[in-house]
Amino acid sequence: MAEEPAPKPGLEGRTVEECQDMIQRSFRTPMVKFLKEHLEKAGCTFGDNFIKAVHCNNQISGGYVRGEGIMVCSNHINMQDEVNQVVIHELIHAYDDCRAANLDWANCAHHACSEIRAGHLSGDCHYKRELLRGYMKIRGHEQDCVRRRVMKSVTANPYCSEAAAKDAMEAVWDICYNDTKPFDRAP
Ligand SMILES: [Zn+2]
Repeated sequence: MAEEPAPKPGLEGRTVEECQDMIQRSFRTPMVKFLKEHLEKAGCTFGDNFIKAVHCNNQISGGYVRGEGIMVCSNHINMQDEVNQVVIHELIHAYDDCRAANLDWANCAHHACSEIRAGHLSGDCHYKRELLRGYMKIRGHEQDCVRRRVMKSVTANPYCSEAAAKDAMEAVWDICYNDTKPFDRAP
């Protein structure tokens, strides 16, 4: 299970119904189409109900749970771009879960690896998104941003202390940051 921390509370968010429509719209973006296609190619088909809008009590924007699918927290998102990002990020977790038969979400290194890939490959750390979050540093920003977000997600894993998360992240960083499947096969 992987959960993504949401930005600071404050904005209202959306209703579950609005969020469900936004999820449907995200299916028309090239990244989501590409990932769905590759999930299916890898034999990981999922039904219409795989991605659900839900109301979340924890301060998270979304998550992926094996056997259940992807959730997008309607009350912690506002814009279409945020929904697209959550869907893309969680689809990368779903892809990792499917392709690696022995992926253990309770293992901090496994979890960190999937967070590194999802954070890097989803474009979560594109400089425009970082500017919106108020992080202005440009040089080296992408890796700093991915590291910060990996730490937030992995330390939220009840099996991973902050020290364990940091060690796990550094141990697998190079391999996982450079593992760009399925995007290495992009046209
Ligand atoms: Zn994640």
